[in-house]
Amino acid sequence: MNDLLTFIDRSPSPFHAVDNLCRELAEAGYTRLSESSSWQLAHGGKYFVTRNGSALLAFRIPRAGFTGFLFSASHSDAPTFRVKENAEMAGPDGYLRLNTEGYGGMLCAPWLDRPLTVAGRVLVQAGDAIETRLVYVDRDLLMIPNVAIHMNRDANNGYKYDRKSDMVPLLGLGKDTGAFRALIAQTAGCTEADILGWDLVLAPREKGLVWGLDNEFVSSPRLDDLQCAYGCFRGFLAAKDSDSIPVFALLDNEEVGSLTKQGADGTFLSDLVDRICAALGKDRATAVANSFLVSADNAHAVHPNHPEYADPTHRPVMNGGIVIKHGTRYATDAAAQAVFTALCRQADVPVQHFFNRSDMAGGSTLGNIANAHVSMNTVDIGLPQLAMHSCFETAGVKDTDYLVKAMTAFYGACLREENGRFTLA
Ligand code: ZN
Repeated sequence: MNDLLTFIDRSPSPFHAVDNLCRELAEAGYTRLSESSSWQLAHGGKYFVTRNGSALLAFRIPRAGFTGFLFSASHSDAPTFRVKENAEMAGPDGYLRLNTEGYGGMLCAPWLDRPLTVAGRVLVQAGDAIETRLVYVDRDLLMIPNVAIHMNRDANNGYKYDRKSDMVPLLGLGKDTGAFRALIAQTAGCTEADILGWDLVLAPREKGLVWGLDNEFVSSPRLDDLQCAYGCFRGFLAAKDSDSIPVFALLDNEEVGSLTKQGADGTFLSDLVDRICAALGKDRATAVANSFLVSADNAHAVHPNHPEYADPTHRPVMNGGIVIKHGTRYATDAAAQAVFTALCRQADVPVQHFFNRSDMAGGSTLGNIANAHVSMNTVDIGLPQLAMHSCFETAGVKDTDYLVKAMTAFYGACLREENGRFTLA
């Protein structure tokens, strides 16, 4: 559990999450590839490649030939607020605030009255080149203050938060002097004039923690979806060799619809399949037909105070195992469910099922979107959690290990389908 919380704490932005995993892959002997160079892939080789610095693919080539790909996909981003270009807002009344825009469908209330800072990347002029530098301002820098109950008597009566007025973080007292830009430049190790662009987001400062009568819960920022990313990554590293190519995918921008070059609706997965098949002389259609995708994005546990929001017969509980997600906005079908369930049985991992209550639309995720580019059997899964899209979410302490075990089994499987008949070994 500490390892998960350390990873999340060190990953305040998608760029940091990808950077942390890249470092671990390099230490584990994986070779870094670049999308802008041609690839020499060897049987038995281990590789990774990033796109935009916020999406990552890691894979291994089996020693002999390969039949297809075993993918997992999770996402690196989380709902937050993005810092605008002209960030400082002086006033009213001597206050200095930071101008931000909402990113994704966050719960607003949890962001109030919490120490915050900024994290992300800065593009910097460095001689003739433009360099990317990761930035994390490691101090309590910002707060979005609530309005006192005496001034907003409706605060507890279904108050509607306005992002442009209620959700503006307070930075300090004083005039717009460019101090924020100077702070970012100092953190990035450059001058203010050298900053050519930034992708900076607000990040809560609280660290994740384990709590409850029997320490059964874990709460942290960004459990959706770094908990799944972590579990899939551990499983990817631990799995034995199979006759398929295991691919760990961490994609960006799921919270805003995935329609970016580094999102599930971009070509990152599809380009990888093309390049590997071309490099190893494999027919693409055959390889994809022998492939499987586990789309891993957190799921809703039954809420203790609002059990009525859960479907009457599908009620995932924390520490109850991996949730298979069903419904029209998910890619799961009976075939993918069956394969994944059989793998979990082999790994001695419990599964539970999520359907939306029949009058609720629910959310969407990566599976369907990825399938529009590389179409294969896909199961949508997640770990059960509370308070999804809060900036401090809650899950069960046991479920991450269940995901690691299941993904270790998945990535080590020799999966075949022949006209509706599946074999796993
Ligand atoms: Zn998610």
